[in-house]
Amino acid sequence: MINYGHFIGGKSFTGDENRYGHVLQPMDGTVRARVALASTKDVQAAVESAKAAQPAWAATNPQRRARVLMKFLQLVERHNDELAEILAREHGKTIADAKGDILRGVEVVEFSIGAPHLLKGEFTDNAGPGIDLYSMRQPLGVVAGITPFNFPAMIPLWKAGPAIASGNAFILKPSERAPGVPLRLAELFFEAGLPAGIFNVINGDKEAVDAILDHHDIKAIGFVGSTPIAKYIYSRGTLNGKRVHCFGGAKNHLVVMPDADMDQVTNALIGAGYGSAGERCMAVSVAVPVGEDTANELMKRLVPKVEQLKIGPSTDSTADYGPLVTRDHLEKVLSYVSFGLEEGAELAVDGRGFKMQGYEKGFYLGGCLFDRVKPDMRIYKDEIFGPVLSVVRTTKYEDALALCNDHEYGNGVSIFTRDGDAARDFASKVQVGMVGINVPIPVPLAYYTFGGWKASSFGDLNQHGPDAFRFYTKTKTVTSRWPSGVKEGASFVMPTMS
Ligand code: NAD
Repeated sequence: MINYGHFIGGKSFTGDENRYGHVLQPMDGTVRARVALASTKDVQAAVESAKAAQPAWAATNPQRRARVLMKFLQLVERHNDELAEILAREHGKTIADAKGDILRGVEVVEFSIGAPHLLKGEFTDNAGPGIDLYSMRQPLGVVAGITPFNFPAMIPLWKAGPAIASGNAFILKPSERAPGVPLRLAELFFEAGLPAGIFNVINGDKEAVDAILDHHDIKAIGFVGSTPIAKYIYSRGTLNGKRVHCFGGAKNHLVVMPDADMDQVTNALIGAGYGSAGERCMAVSVAVPVGEDTANELMKRLVPKVEQLKIGPSTDSTADYGPLVTRDHLEKVLSYVSFGLEEGAELAVDGRGFKMQGYEKGFYLGGCLFDRVKPDMRIYKDEIFGPVLSVVRTTKYEDALALCNDHEYGNGVSIFTRDGDAARDFASKVQVGMVGINVPIPVPLAYYTFGGWKASSFGDLNQHGPDAFRFYTKTKTVTSRWPSGVKEGASFVMPTMS
């Protein structure tokens, strides 16, 4: 069995051996690894190492910092197959999907290579007599990222790329359910020439998280995970005076207008609803057809496609999606299927009987499709995070828009239509952070920012894009007078340029 520890100061670190968890292999239900769960003392060791290394890294010019990231990217490319295999084995997603997970993280590191440009300040010549005014962006010091199980490569890199490129030292607390890739990324950063202590990995649970939240020397925390934990981290972290932004859960709607291309809609819903077993924060979990005819046509097309989904072990390159992450999570998703039935929704496709031959202990669930779901049902209100799609029928566009706006979550949303007026109105009025027009998963590219609204996000500034550089730096403004010898008497009024 693999034994995962931590990565501190450029090497693996065992730490407190009394607390540990198990990392499962979802495709066959076996235990793949033992993972150390850090104590407060272990977190302290990571902070000390990060704090000692950070000033020299901040003093390294941004171009040289960027070169280390370039070297890191070459190593990630060289080890792409190995990383994808670890990721698929611990998460359950297919290898092809795991490569997408890595690539979306890589793109943010590529963007971060632009640090010399992104960190530039502003300058005003002659703001007053002999006075120049300028601003600069400086790193915060030691910063941390706390990340979820569902993107073990992408989200750690979304945090680490901008943080490191800005001159901070970074402590990652990844999900204890999939720690293999984050640890491997730490080794690759070090191999690429990143100084010891600049990228550290602390594996752990609530104890490690609380130690991060309470540590005086950690200046900022970027969190991604479920909404209840996001709220907790935001409130405790900000109470402790830290800069915190937290990205939480989601319930993403896809509105189907009567004029939409129904082939395109069906494929979009199948891919975005069931890809990665629905374990994506941008997965579409609610289809909202406008009009009875649209709904009937949609169901006619969706049902056979859901029934034909190919579910397989993560190593099967022909599978559409793999198992769920753990048995507990599978049980939770199954309980939602039962709630839906109890509350009166119509289960048009029931995937509960699915068995994967040769992998009977894996955490598989066939695609489930609910029709005639109502807004007061739990399967509509809650994030299920599984291969379960709900269809909520509406009669007109305004009702579909109101449905999206009234939902507690506001991460992603899409509209499928050929009508430019409707699309434009929707993009303008919908109360959701990321909008797709004839695009089912509108994850912005690395040079834009990523973030939801309402209960999907807490705090200011989004992830990646220019916001990430603002989040991981503080601005200093300097007012200077040269030549310094301008003679002036003491002034007791507020300085102005009049
Ligand atoms: P999670 O909230 O269970 O865990 C996230 C992190 O918080 C992990 O590192 C975990 O160890 C830690 N954690 C868990 N319980 C804790 C507690 N009681 N106290 C302190 N720390 C705790 O989330 P998950 O199940 O790993 O990931 C799935 C969730 O993440 C979904 O809700 C999904 O929508 C969300 N997500 C959101 C985004 C986004 O950008 N909005 C992206 C990906 C995933």
